[in-house]
Amino acid sequence: MASEQPFWPVECGEGEPDLMVCMSCLSEVFRSKVPMPDCPSCHRVSTYESFTLESIRDWGTEELIAKAEQAHAFVEQPPVQADEIPEPTPPA
Ligand SMILES: [Zn+2]
Repeated sequence: MASEQPFWPVECGEGEPDLMVCMSCLSEVFRSKVPMPDCPSCHRVSTYESFTLESIRDWGTEELIAKAEQAHAFVEQPPVQADEIPEPTPPA
């Protein structure tokens, strides 16, 4: 991939819904950010609305729920890539 998807940060308060769902295709969800300039799935400049994970579980497709759970987990725990853990620098 030559270019990474840019994102626009969305400020969400403590305890407020922070999973932003694309209202055009209902198949993309991002946590506390929205893709720029358009949705990577439907390529429409879409309205994003914030939902809680519980809410998405109520009405979302299995795919959307899986993405929401991933987005949720990704921020909850710092990402650790098992094959890319840097070697600790030994003291000089
Ligand atoms: Zn979309």
